[in-house]
Amino acid sequence: MHYLSTRGDATPRQFCDILLEGLAPDGGLYLPERYPQLTSAELARLRGVYRQQGYAALAFEILSLYIDDIPAADLRAICDKTYTQQVFGTPEITPLKKLSGGFYLEALSNGPTLAFKDMAMQLLGNLFEYELARRGQQLNILGATSGDTGSAAEYAMRGKQGIRVFMLSPHGRMSAFQQAQMFSLQDANIHNIAIEGVFDDCQDIVKAVSNDLAFKRQHQIGTVNSINWARLLAQVVYYFAGWFQATQADDEPVDFTVPSGNFGNVCAGHVARMMGLPIGQLVVATNENDVLDEFFRTGRYRVRGSADTFETSSPSMDISKASNFERFVADVLNRDGARVKALFADALAQKGEFSLPAELQAWRDRGQAWASGKSTHADRLSTIRNVYEQHGVMIDTHTADGVKVARQHQRPSVPMIVLETALPIKFAATIREALGREPERPAALEGIENLPRRVQVLPADVAQVKALIARHCAA
Ligand SMILES: *Cc1c(COP(=O)(O)O)cnc(C)c1O
Repeated sequence: MHYLSTRGDATPRQFCDILLEGLAPDGGLYLPERYPQLTSAELARLRGVYRQQGYAALAFEILSLYIDDIPAADLRAICDKTYTQQVFGTPEITPLKKLSGGFYLEALSNGPTLAFKDMAMQLLGNLFEYELARRGQQLNILGATSGDTGSAAEYAMRGKQGIRVFMLSPHGRMSAFQQAQMFSLQDANIHNIAIEGVFDDCQDIVKAVSNDLAFKRQHQIGTVNSINWARLLAQVVYYFAGWFQATQADDEPVDFTVPSGNFGNVCAGHVARMMGLPIGQLVVATNENDVLDEFFRTGRYRVRGSADTFETSSPSMDISKASNFERFVADVLNRDGARVKALFADALAQKGEFSLPAELQAWRDRGQAWASGKSTHADRLSTIRNVYEQHGVMIDTHTADGVKVARQHQRPSVPMIVLETALPIKFAATIREALGREPERPAALEGIENLPRRVQVLPADVAQVKALIARHCAA
């Protein structure tokens, strides 16, 4: 299997060539040259694999279709080591919780940092360690976080050979729980750096360091952002697992609703459907930052400026543009790299928007159903309250956005699965506002705020961050 850029660079690359990369050299995103097609006999076989051997075996089967430059036995061992009950809390790894007839939550947030990003990041940690060892290389991951992504990356990379993590966060601005999650890690290869500034200052420092190509090369600096193809591929697996749990027969459709920000999670659903998984509708749920809802309603993609990007109570969906969206558009445009480039490199840069209403309609006419909706703070509060009262289940603010929108699109006799993207404990203030009580906390995280902390505070100064990285790389 070869990987090509969405913007037309057709240099053939294999999976491990792009594993440690970010963007393609032409600024595009990597996509497989084609999506492997599964017949219903093949789906029936995979259902058996999942039922009899479990999630890790299913992950191996799906990943094998896209990865042919890692020996099968090694890839299987990586999957077995990643998707364990010990790490993800249940033997099913992503169990369905039934709320009412035909309406389910798929639990994706029982990993170490209690958000769905663990599903992909835990695999990435093991793939990185494997590939770096094979090449005899080291990698220093530099990132900026305001919460979820940074902690998922740290928990995935902790203790890994050949990898160090330098994670910048705005000093004193993350929630007490998020700070405790990250700063309580005592692993020697994890470096928490609290920057005296806001999240944008952290991001500017990461950009400045990455733009210093000599420094970047000398210190093997890399990232783990959401456009990484391996992360997306890992997420394809749980669409299969959700479908197997909600259906008996091998042609029964299921709808999915996905709380969305950068379009990584729902793009994995798109890939699963392109492979032949019988997904009826993919429903995109946004919060007040409704770039994606607007696109699926009107065909107009309009990125927002920072003045129009709102801070909401589902903060992991507060985006101004959706960094994985280019992959979907490339498929809608039948992989016309020149057109994708004209839209994403030219139209967005010049006008901040483009429109594809006819192309979106043509795509839907080919049986690719997409729907969308948005949710507000008031919707989140009432949905959290209502799900708790009716079903005794506490959901987080992002999942609440999903449930609200899913209810508007549920079809009679078609199961609807809402992806649960985080646990309520991560967003305690809104849970208190909605329910007047504290969110449930997994036993393993009792008292995490009182553990000793490992963090260094630095001013928002590129030179000091570089000096710190250089010092650790020399040690
Ligand atoms: C990252 C995140 C999202 C958004 O996922 P995308 O892949 O960016 O669309 C939704 N909910 C939670 C809790 C997240 O951490």
